[in-house]
Amino acid sequence: NKTETVNFGAGPAKVPHSVLLEAQKELLDYKGLGISVLEMSHRSADFTKILNSTENLLRELLYIPENYKVIFLQGGGSAQFSAVPLNLLGLKEERCADYIVTGAWSAKAAKEAEKYGKVNIVHPKLDSYTKIPDPNTWKLSPGASYVYYCSNETVNGVEFDFIPDIKEAVLACDMSSNFLSKPVDVSKFGLIFAGAQKNIGCAGVTVVIVREDLLGVALKECPVVLDYKIQSGNNSIYNTPPCFSIYIMGLVLEWIKNNGSAEAMEKLNITKSKLIYDLINESNGFYVCPVEVKSRSRMNIPFRIGNNNGDAALEKTFLDEAAKLGMISLKGHRSVGGIRVSLYNAITVEEARKLAEFMKVFMKTHQ
Ligand code: PMP
Repeated sequence: NKTETVNFGAGPAKVPHSVLLEAQKELLDYKGLGISVLEMSHRSADFTKILNSTENLLRELLYIPENYKVIFLQGGGSAQFSAVPLNLLGLKEERCADYIVTGAWSAKAAKEAEKYGKVNIVHPKLDSYTKIPDPNTWKLSPGASYVYYCSNETVNGVEFDFIPDIKEAVLACDMSSNFLSKPVDVSKFGLIFAGAQKNIGCAGVTVVIVREDLLGVALKECPVVLDYKIQSGNNSIYNTPPCFSIYIMGLVLEWIKNNGSAEAMEKLNITKSKLIYDLINESNGFYVCPVEVKSRSRMNIPFRIGNNNGDAALEKTFLDEAAKLGMISLKGHRSVGGIRVSLYNAITVEEARKLAEFMKVFMKTHQ
């Protein structure tokens, strides 16, 4: 990273500078072994140490109870859209699952699950992904094997500020884009998964945290590499895991721990997102965030400039001027348009403030 560049990308996203320096230092010669982690056997004692210490750090940071397995898998969050139904639909005879669809990613997950069983969307379809439907309107199905949701919709900027209360049902959650951005009570979940390339490292590895009593009912068509029981029974090395991505995750988790753990991350994330939302709220409609206030994401802030639909020329000028100042990857997702600011853990308060200052000046000159 050139120090003057600030990467506000939605993922792959900024990695803490100190982690990059550490990885650089160790790249050619990992702790005096004379080889790189890139070249190490995944079954060697040295890599086993990396794998185990990464898992232990994760357990420590999230207080993961002992009856949960932690698995590191390939295939990204998207592979989990299939893995979740393939592993969990068999919990009940009906082969059915409840989905809460609040944005692009949970919609994709629901669509994938339909290949393997019956999917029930628990609420009336939303016209736009700008809010979380009132839990009082949800109709859960008694025969559902699990209830699925995405805790932070990266594209739409919609984030749950609560854990759905679904009584005895099994809760499965895609936490890819707000994992470790705040503490979370793992015991409320049957399953959590998260790709690493936003808050906890680089692309290539996805963390799965799953309650062990849910294992062992995978559908017979479940690919072996996605079978949680087989992968956890083999300490995530049934086949070659994404070794380097796991190593980077370990370094990022250490960085999180050294910076006050999930609790401190949450405080910083509140401060950073408030800098941007306050400015949007006080801009008299110059900046427009379509998401209802209580469901606004601390991680991904989508907004339009000029009016509700966005003034295309003005938005382009905004991106160009921001880039000249080193602030990059601010373009909104192609399905939503406009601007999207991603403020994952590695983004500092100073960097968020730099953007807020720029937004203020931009508004003054272009209003
Ligand atoms: N879920 C969420 C919330 C995401 O943001 C993403 C990717 N941006 C995915 C799933 C899919 O992850 P991948 O691209 O690693 O398959």
